[in-house]
Amino acid sequence: MTNPMSNEPSATNESALFPSYARYPLAFVKGKGSYLWDAEGNKYLDFMCGLAVTNLGHAPEPVAAKLKEQLDQLWHTSNLFQIPNQEKAAQMLTSITSGDAVFFCNSGAEANEAAIKLARKYQQKIKGEERYEIITFTQSFHGRTLATLTATGQDKVKEGFHPLPAGFITVPLNDLDALQKVIGPHTAAIMLEMIQAEGGVYPAEVAYVQAVAELCKQHGVLLIIDEIQTGMGRTGKLLASEHYGIEPDIFTLAKGLASGFPVGAMVGKAYLKEAFTAGSHGSTFGGTPLATAAVIATLETMQEQNVVQHAAEMGDYLMQQLEDKLSSHPFVIEIRGKGLMIGIECTAPINELILAGQKKGLLFVSAGPNVIRLLPNLLITKEEIDHAVTILSELIQEHAPVVGTAGANSN
Ligand SMILES: *Cc1c(COP(=O)(O)O)cnc(C)c1O
Repeated sequence: MTNPMSNEPSATNESALFPSYARYPLAFVKGKGSYLWDAEGNKYLDFMCGLAVTNLGHAPEPVAAKLKEQLDQLWHTSNLFQIPNQEKAAQMLTSITSGDAVFFCNSGAEANEAAIKLARKYQQKIKGEERYEIITFTQSFHGRTLATLTATGQDKVKEGFHPLPAGFITVPLNDLDALQKVIGPHTAAIMLEMIQAEGGVYPAEVAYVQAVAELCKQHGVLLIIDEIQTGMGRTGKLLASEHYGIEPDIFTLAKGLASGFPVGAMVGKAYLKEAFTAGSHGSTFGGTPLATAAVIATLETMQEQNVVQHAAEMGDYLMQQLEDKLSSHPFVIEIRGKGLMIGIECTAPINELILAGQKKGLLFVSAGPNVIRLLPNLLITKEEIDHAVTILSELIQEHAPVVGTAGANSN
C-alpha cells in the first residue's frame, strides 16, 4: 500500500484505482472556456470537451454563479419531496423539445436504462401487450450498465459479462430490410443514435430514419432516440432528431445537459406518463436541487447566448476549413458529421496523432481506431477553429504513416 498522505502521484501499477481506463499521462488543474492548463502551466486547446460534456466551455460563468448560489442554499433533499428546480428544469426542457415529461437521473446509461424500462412497462402494463424486445444497431453505444451494454452494438463492451439480459436484438444501421425482418409482436422499442458517435461518427440516413419512425407507428413500437452525445446543440440543432423531421416517443440526454455537472434525463411523450406511476422507477440522486440548478443555468445560457445557432455556424466553418486543409491528404478518407461533432476517417490508426496533438497543445479523441473525433465547445470561435485546423494539418503532414492502398478500404 502506498502512503495515503503522500502527494506524490502513484505509478499506474500501484494506483488505488481500478485500471478500467487507459489514461493519457496528463492531468489538468484549471479550465476556462476553450482551454485547459496542466500543473506546469502548459495550455491546451480543448477539442474534445470531456467527451461532448463541457458544451459551454470550461467553468462557464453563469452556470458557476448559479451553482455557487445553490451551494449556499440547499444541495439535496429527496424525491419524496417537491423539488422546484427539478420542476423548472423539466418545464424548460419540455417547452423547447417535442417531449412532455422528464425523468432526471445522473448519467447517460441511467437515462437509457429508464427509457428501456419505460418502453417495456408502457407496452406491457398500459397496452397489455407481450412486447419486451428492444432493437438496436451495430456500432451503436448506449452505456455500460448490463441493460445498456447489451443494447450497445459493439461486442468489446460485452466481453466477460455474460449472461446478458434477454430481449435485445441488434441489426445493421441504414438497412431497412434487416430491421423489418426482426420487428414482430414482441418488439417494444427501437433505440438509435442519429449519429453514431462512439461508433465512428456515422450518421443515420434521413430517409432511413423517417422509414423507421413510420414502421414504429405501424407496428405499435416505441421510438427511442439516444441524444446523449448528439443532443444539447452539439449537431447545430438542439436535438439531432430535428435534422430528421421526426418526433421520437422518448429521447435521452446527459453529456451536455448541465455543463459538466453529472445529470441525465429521459424525456417522453405525455401518453407515457401513466406507465411511470409512483414506485415504478427512481433514483436517490436524480434531479437534486443542485444538479437541476446546473441544468437550468445551462439552458438559460444556451438561450441567452444563442448557442445552438452559433454551434451550427461554427460547425459549417469547421467543416469547410477541414475540407480545404485536410481532405486532399492521402491519409484522409472522409470527413463527416454535423455541427460540432465531426469525424475524420483516416487510412490507419490515429493513436500517435492524438499523443502528438497533446504535445502541440491540442486535445481530441478517436471514434474507433481510425477516426479522429472533434468535439469543441459550442461557443468556440473562428480563431480557435483556425488554430486547431492548423495543428491538425501539421500533425497529418508530420505523423501520418506512409500510405499504401492496402489500408485505404475502411468499409
Ligand atoms: C456517453 C454515451 C452514453 C453513456 O453515457 P454515460 O453518462 O457514460 O453513462 C450513452 N449513449 C451515448 C450515445 C453516449 O455517447
